[in-house]
Amino acid sequence: MSLAAHDAGAPAFDVARVREDFPILHREVHGKPLVYFDTAASAQRPLAVIEAVSDFYRHHNANIHRGVHTLSQEATDAYEGARDRIAAFINAPSRDELVFTRGTTESINLVAQAYLRPRVGPGDQVLVSQMEHHSNIVPWQMLCRQTGAELKVIPFDDDGVLDMAAFRALLSERVKLVGIVMVSNALGTVNPVAEICREAAALDIPVLVDGAQAMPHQAVDVQALGCSFFCFSGHKMYGPTGIGGLWAPLSLLEAMEPYQGGGEMIRRVSFETTEFNDPPGKFEAGTPNIAGAVGLGAAVDYLQGLGMDAIGAYEAGLLAAGTERLLQVEGLRIVGTAPHKAGVISFTLEGIHPHDIGTIIDHHGVAIRTGHHCAMPAIARFGLPATARASLGLYNTVEEFGVLADALEQTRAMFA
Ligand code: PLP
Repeated sequence: MSLAAHDAGAPAFDVARVREDFPILHREVHGKPLVYFDTAASAQRPLAVIEAVSDFYRHHNANIHRGVHTLSQEATDAYEGARDRIAAFINAPSRDELVFTRGTTESINLVAQAYLRPRVGPGDQVLVSQMEHHSNIVPWQMLCRQTGAELKVIPFDDDGVLDMAAFRALLSERVKLVGIVMVSNALGTVNPVAEICREAAALDIPVLVDGAQAMPHQAVDVQALGCSFFCFSGHKMYGPTGIGGLWAPLSLLEAMEPYQGGGEMIRRVSFETTEFNDPPGKFEAGTPNIAGAVGLGAAVDYLQGLGMDAIGAYEAGLLAAGTERLLQVEGLRIVGTAPHKAGVISFTLEGIHPHDIGTIIDHHGVAIRTGHHCAMPAIARFGLPATARASLGLYNTVEEFGVLADALEQTRAMFA
């Protein structure tokens, strides 16, 4: 397979050139060139992001909003400018609909507590899928404990494909929110999120989409999805850690109570009462991760420069070639074989514990993740406590899958 893949009309994708943008890819691990297959846990950062953060601290650092001095105004412009670009990246109708959070986990907790908690009680239901990350399970369980509502689960089949018939059967007027992952971090399944949103909307049920693993792999258009809430993390999409976002229509954000109290989320405070700020400030209490937002803005610029369609096309070819190569390893079983996948190959190797695999191939310079991937119910569905997971990013190559497969074959030989 060629290393270059591109859509007609999209810019050509030159992976060798792209790799030059990532300084960390030039280091060695245990004397071997680093092969990084752990992007689903956290992506590596391009120089453009590293430099944007560094430039912010070197030249513009100050607290934002309300400052009259030059640095504060520059910092505010950088922070709010990043909001403009990230909102446009997901095709939000308004920049005011993008709330900066620490990431997907905080965004989901925010929706659970600020939106749903005052709107549910005993007898009501929250619907999530069996392949959710713990971040899209536990906040709803906590909410259910607080309110007496009930958590219901949409199952998936042996390939990791969501059971849409079961989803339809579970939909009722008792369901007050559906939480669904767009791309599963444990299985790689791409879910039919637009269809889910359409069917839930017919019953006026809001849908929260966990977009953590979708953002790095495909263009996201929140309007086309038709969701009520969209959550994502900067560090999964080549930006900094500790920054991410929640998108929701202004009408919903306006109707919601604040999540946390403190600075920036207020308009006026007295001991008698407090008047809250308008969204998005209403949900950004305290000094935010200013440099993180600036870095995430740079990550979005970087991704747009490469073109999300070009990235998606390249990665689809890489996933297919990587799957083919790994299946040549004797005793390797792929966990999650949905026809529509992105970014992730979870697998087991007969007779060898995933943690042993991960530790041994680290000595070949290969970084993969092993365990339950913070999606214990999804892995348990296959009767497994853990899998090994190779997750790819826009900088990986077919040759690196060869290195991974060779390392796995050598691991097998050690256990023979
Ligand atoms: N949802 C999915 C699908 C994920 O893969 C992750 C992280 O692995 C999360 C949510 C949580 O993201 P964060 O830890 O950045 O909040």
